[in-house]
Amino acid sequence: MTRPADITDTDDNPRCASGKARLFVEGELRAGASLTLEADPSHYLVNVLRMGAGDGVLLFNGRDGEWAARIAEPHKKHCVLELIERTRAQEPLPDIWLLFAPVKKARLDFIAQKATEMGAAVIQPVVTARTVVTRLKDERLQANAVEAAEQCGLVAVPEVRAAAKLAGLLAQWDAIAPGRRILFCDEGARPGEARVVLEKLAGEGWRGAPLAVLVGPEGGFSPEERDMLRARRDTVALSLGPRIMRADTAAIAALAVVGLVLGDW
Ligand code: SAH
Repeated sequence: MTRPADITDTDDNPRCASGKARLFVEGELRAGASLTLEADPSHYLVNVLRMGAGDGVLLFNGRDGEWAARIAEPHKKHCVLELIERTRAQEPLPDIWLLFAPVKKARLDFIAQKATEMGAAVIQPVVTARTVVTRLKDERLQANAVEAAEQCGLVAVPEVRAAAKLAGLLAQWDAIAPGRRILFCDEGARPGEARVVLEKLAGEGWRGAPLAVLVGPEGGFSPEERDMLRARRDTVALSLGPRIMRADTAAIAALAVVGLVLGDW
């Protein structure tokens, strides 16, 4: 995966809180295997971090946990690593999807990174009646999710899906996400009831169950969309309090309260 040029690693925190270089890779991770990196990560290790033969790197692929590896051949275009041992088991993500209407580029990156840190398993951009941004680079969103996972010591990376029209997605929802409840962040819902709504769902056994959090665009949901959503049996309207938040703030706030009551916090 090549990282878009303007997503730079913060120099004070290369790619992991522990300071040790940590890379997401696509290939299988198993003892004794060796792995040749693509040009972008090779450049990063050899030229940016000035690492050489024998230096240690942590790898994860979202399936096989985290592995310690060492540089066998510090080549700046195809660096070869040899895997040593697994340092962490693969940790499951709470089965919570984030469905959100895309916003402007910088805040889009923010949503992808923060949703990853909050443990979203799927990031699904949805195009609603009032969504302004429609040109969406999936690989950019995925790159932001990967960078957040590398930097925050995560071993799982959310699946970033291609943008879909909300109405179309909901029309096929039973096929796409059978049994998955939708928590629809409704700025028109009466404030002060979020705790009751979520605790009722917890009481009905929805903690740890498949869920989706839906957040609208800066222009909000249209009345028709709100009616459509409120009419669905698999959808619950959720107020995030008396103040209207920006879409990116709402996405994070929603993932927090849902993670707390129905997720794995
Ligand atoms: N322009 C709209 C607000 C849109 S905010 C208006 O003025 O009404 C963008 C999205 O964030 C909303 O569609 C909703 O999904 C979510 N959101 C923001 N504040 C919220 C709140 N207090 N309660 C529930 N959802 C909220």
